[in-house]
Amino acid sequence: MTMGAPNMDVLVSLSKRRGFVFQSSEIYGGTGSVWDYGPLGVELKNNIKRVWWRDFVQQRADMVGIDASILMHPTVWKASGHLDHFTDPMVDCRECKRRFRADHVDTLPWTHYCPATKGNKFSIPAGEPCGHCGQRRTLCPECGKGELTAPRQFNLMFKTFMGPVEDEAAVTYLRPETAQAMFVNFDNVLQSMRLKLPFGIAQAGRSFRNEITPGNFIFRTREFEQMEIEFFVNPNDRVDGRPADEFWHDRWIEDCMAWFLRYGLTADNLRLREHERDELAHYAKRTVDIEYKFPIGWSELMGIANRTDFDLKQHAKWSGKSLTYFDEERKEHVVPFVVEPAAGVDRALLAFMADAYREDEVRGEKRVVLKLHPELAPIKVAVLPLLKKRDDIVRTAHAIRADLARQWRVVYDDTAAIGRLYRRQDEIGTPYCVTVDVQTVGDTERGEAGDGRVTIRDRDSMEQIRVPTAELATVFRELLDAAAWTQVAARYPSPPRS
Ligand SMILES: [Zn+2]
Ligand SMILES: [Zn+2]
Repeated sequence: MTMGAPNMDVLVSLSKRRGFVFQSSEIYGGTGSVWDYGPLGVELKNNIKRVWWRDFVQQRADMVGIDASILMHPTVWKASGHLDHFTDPMVDCRECKRRFRADHVDTLPWTHYCPATKGNKFSIPAGEPCGHCGQRRTLCPECGKGELTAPRQFNLMFKTFMGPVEDEAAVTYLRPETAQAMFVNFDNVLQSMRLKLPFGIAQAGRSFRNEITPGNFIFRTREFEQMEIEFFVNPNDRVDGRPADEFWHDRWIEDCMAWFLRYGLTADNLRLREHERDELAHYAKRTVDIEYKFPIGWSELMGIANRTDFDLKQHAKWSGKSLTYFDEERKEHVVPFVVEPAAGVDRALLAFMADAYREDEVRGEKRVVLKLHPELAPIKVAVLPLLKKRDDIVRTAHAIRADLARQWRVVYDDTAAIGRLYRRQDEIGTPYCVTVDVQTVGDTERGEAGDGRVTIRDRDSMEQIRVPTAELATVFRELLDAAAWTQVAARYPSPPRS
């Protein structure tokens, strides 16, 4: 089996060809760094969010969820610091009007019309002087002609207007993160659910950032989806002899790492990165990123920050409402510390796809296979008739699909020969195919009865077993619950060689 991370172009092309991800508004030339999830992409994305919610909310006694609005009171962003600090210094070209991050200008190759060569145009590597005249870049790196403005602070939040009148009073913002809704709802959740510390509030939802240099497919986009948890702890508590916030921070780092491994990311492609003191947000006590070796190199997959009591204190100050917790034991009000595991859904999807991508060779032909975890795979089972001219085979295949589809996303396909159909399912990560053949239904003309068995083919090993139709639902419940194929296969015969 050949391996190696696919490059981004391969993933972009597969995504479009097979309906995972399309460029937004493509027929109009596309929208800058905005993407649409197609029929398979939406299934994969929903599956990622569903297992995240199940593992971190549903199965835990110390977690609850919310689903807050994207539009919030504008003062939220004053209190959170986003209005004043969520900015990048930008410079503009006076000629071509291109906009650059001030701190990125010198990291770009630059266009130069060289006076020493009668004004010939050169593209010069980032940070280097011209080899002919020795000049360094002073003008716009893109057009090589315009002067750049002095740096100006540019806020990354999308500004919009609430209500019918576009006056300043109604200015609000599309949320740049989901986290703030957990802080402003802290007391609502605490009181309505009668929770005891430590407990967490989770939310998955869309956020918006007007990134200046977005790109790399769905890695950095202007509209994206987050899965965030705010886990509140009593800073006066100690666990295993350590401050509770530090204990829980480490615990969440471990749990999140284990989660990505459980759903198929390769350990060698994951690492932890501790934020240096000077890159920590001013409110953070400690932040650790889980990095993944994306096709573009090692980059942040998720961050786990200890945000201390900064957010609750800020919102208490700006709203005038008390956001504290009453510690029964010590008979005192405390402002909880919060540990924040924050993951991007789109980034997770990109990592799962990149990691699952394999090319191998089967009987001299290239096979592309997405070895997605069964729980993440967009389609769990494809039901394929071996002969589409035989009504009884087709009817049986449709009936099997309808039966299994009550529990899983299952498709029927008869638009090509069987080998081709298998390849198509391999390429989109479908873990199992069911084939209905003459043996299943029998041959009435010859007076032969069917055996009522169908063939299940395993995507990864390409092994096959014959299973009674009546047992399919039970077998798939086992297989899709991540039971090893070999355990199940040991109970059933292989189909006869054809
Ligand atoms: Zn320019
Ligand atoms: Zn020059």
